[in-house]
Amino acid sequence: MSIPKIVAAGLEKRYRSARGVDTLAVTGIDLTINAGEFVCLVGPSGCGKTTLIQMMCGFEHPTAGRLLIDGAPVPGPNPDHIMIFQDYGLFPWRTVLGNVEFGLESQGMAKAEARVRAQETLELVGLCPAAHKHPHEISSGMRQRVAIARALAVEPSLLFMDEPFGAIDAFTRLRLQDEILRLWEVKRTTVVFVTHDLDEAIALAQRVILMASSPGRVQRIVDIDLTYPRDRTHADFTEYRRVLFEEFH
Ligand code: ADP
Ligand code: MG
Repeated sequence: MSIPKIVAAGLEKRYRSARGVDTLAVTGIDLTINAGEFVCLVGPSGCGKTTLIQMMCGFEHPTAGRLLIDGAPVPGPNPDHIMIFQDYGLFPWRTVLGNVEFGLESQGMAKAEARVRAQETLELVGLCPAAHKHPHEISSGMRQRVAIARALAVEPSLLFMDEPFGAIDAFTRLRLQDEILRLWEVKRTTVVFVTHDLDEAIALAQRVILMASSPGRVQRIVDIDLTYPRDRTHADFTEYRRVLFEEFH
């Protein structure tokens, strides 16, 4: 049975600039994301993907409509709902291990326990050899893996990722996609992943939420009915690619 995790109804966000100019960033968003689901938000720049995900993680507040998580409105950021940013958000003065421990310690976990959990998580993402390096000593792909490890170590019930692999080369990106899927299959966290890469969305998501701009809205939701791991060269995959590309014409 599917349990709704995030429910949006008539959700709207309007930004007002200092000069009083309004931007209707998103409007009329009706959407249910179920617990344990992996969804991708896809759409052109400016269609409100970031705005939508920021409201879901409590950094921005809706100006109309309703947004419920676990049946309740979102008053602000929640330590059980984690956002991974494109620029990783790592502390340069902490080691890889120290960065992963930080997430756990800030949730009140005892130091010794945090160390064990952090080491286990680094093992899961193959980062043990880099545990004692600092962020500037490792590649950008590894930095993003540290950010993912730090987020998943705390076993959040919700994971938000806003174009997390945007600055990462194509090869590393494929590996990270596989890794995030593997972790999701183990942890069954609900994942809301923003990308403007259609292939990435088809590779990852159970449902792709296509957004359109001016004003930002949901244009169409496509179920991706493929088993994991997905073969990007398979005819069914390329058929989804065709379907999604056509939406943008
Ligand atoms: P996306 O992530 O899809 O590129 P955004 O959510 O960043 O879209 O932006 C949606 C619209 O809202 C854009 O027109 C953008 O200029 C505007 N916008 C985003 N953030 C702000 C803000 N803090 N203040 C004013 N306008 C904003
Ligand atoms: Mg954005």
